[in-house]
Amino acid sequence: MANSKPHAIVFPYPYQGHITPMINLCLSLASKNLTITFIPLEFNHHSISKAHDLPADAHIFTGARNAGLDIRYAAISDGFPVDFDRDGNDDDRNYSDYWMTMFRDFPGRVDALVAGIVTSSGDSPPSVMITDTFFSWVATPICEKYGMINVSVWTQPAAVFAINYHFDLLRENAHFPPQHGEGEEGIINYIPGVGSMRPRDLMSYVQYPDMIPMLTEIEVKAFDHVKQADFILCNTVEELESDTLSALNQILPSFPIGPINFYDGSLARSLRPHTDCTEWLNSKPPASVLYISFGSINFIADKEELVEFAYGLLVSRVYFIWVIKDDQEKHFLPSGFEDGVGSRGLVVPWCDQDGVLASPATGGFLTHCGWNSVLESMWHGVAMICYPFLVDQPTNRKLVVDDWRIGVNLCDGGRVTREEVAEKIDVVMKGDSALRMKSEVEKVRKKLHNSLGEEGSSHKNLDLFWERLKLSL
Ligand code: UDP
Repeated sequence: MANSKPHAIVFPYPYQGHITPMINLCLSLASKNLTITFIPLEFNHHSISKAHDLPADAHIFTGARNAGLDIRYAAISDGFPVDFDRDGNDDDRNYSDYWMTMFRDFPGRVDALVAGIVTSSGDSPPSVMITDTFFSWVATPICEKYGMINVSVWTQPAAVFAINYHFDLLRENAHFPPQHGEGEEGIINYIPGVGSMRPRDLMSYVQYPDMIPMLTEIEVKAFDHVKQADFILCNTVEELESDTLSALNQILPSFPIGPINFYDGSLARSLRPHTDCTEWLNSKPPASVLYISFGSINFIADKEELVEFAYGLLVSRVYFIWVIKDDQEKHFLPSGFEDGVGSRGLVVPWCDQDGVLASPATGGFLTHCGWNSVLESMWHGVAMICYPFLVDQPTNRKLVVDDWRIGVNLCDGGRVTREEVAEKIDVVMKGDSALRMKSEVEKVRKKLHNSLGEEGSSHKNLDLFWERLKLSL
């Protein structure tokens, strides 16, 4: 390695659940004396600037730079207008068209940008590329061309990584394509390091590849390429997934360094503006509020389901904060719902989820089981009601409910009913069942907090990764 300070260029995947951990990872690595050039997509840059009212000459890391960290910043265009609906709510084809175009054009755009950074970086040209695993297909050709170390960041559980990595085993055992219908159940007990699971615990793109075919394509493409990575950083904790991580380590150097969701609370990370719930939460008794959120992705919920959730909340009589991002979804609520619940509930378009979960008033989380939401809930010791529907969420549910016993199922894959919503709220928030669940989630909370302590596994794994990275330069 040249005497100069190592320099990494970093590409986050353009969704909230990927951006937050990547920003935090950059701060950790920059604190270890790595120069970072952070490269978000322009539309993410615009959303974050708008959500946080950042001045035109500022960006996410301006404060960190002023504090002495060498984090540079260069947004890149994906070739689409900033306000293009990339999730496809205006038109179902948008999502697929968007990613088809990205597969075709984005590596060339990245190459041009990286070439410019290489030429302009003087005596510290980038020698490392850190990308989200879903961008491995961007990383492979660039790392080969410029001789960079390829670091892949996985923002879901190690179990999901392992299943994707061994997709060929799913095919060999006839679990992909799925055999829906009689006798399809079977058991998946052949993924190295991953405990037995049922087909319905697999990720949605394995169970229902025809639902959004592009999701399967994105995963398969990512995992074809991630095999070329030099290091994998996983946003998970060794104590939670030790068997899976040991097995993964046999095939790729993998470092569980999570949770990387909590770094510096004041930093601008959110793609949407927060509604402040602090005062409202402060007025509520301990553990009395149910927090409800189905994540950051813009898929519009089904009207009937929303109505059942609303009536379930009315029946249960708990306090609640419900994140409903889209006005169209809000119109699905029964008429007079918000007036009817009065001060008992808040419906907000977006909030500081971490802040809400941290509040002593919060006593349960009705979640879609996005991995960041699961980590954040565990971190704050909040038990979950699990209502997964897409991508890794069914597999995350299995970990939360069946393996760690810190949550309950809602409707177990069937249609949601108001009676079950009310019943599960009671299980998680009232009586002996709530106390039992609280004591289980408290054990997991301690594991997460310990992992980041000076002697903790994640802390040590990050140090180990850093040493191995320096040796490989
Ligand atoms: N989130 C938030 N405010 C909200 C709803 C969600 O800040 O009102 C954040 C949440 O804290 C989490 C992320 O959005 O970090 C969602 O990521 P997750 O992996 O849970 O779900 P995804 O959006 O990827 O399905």
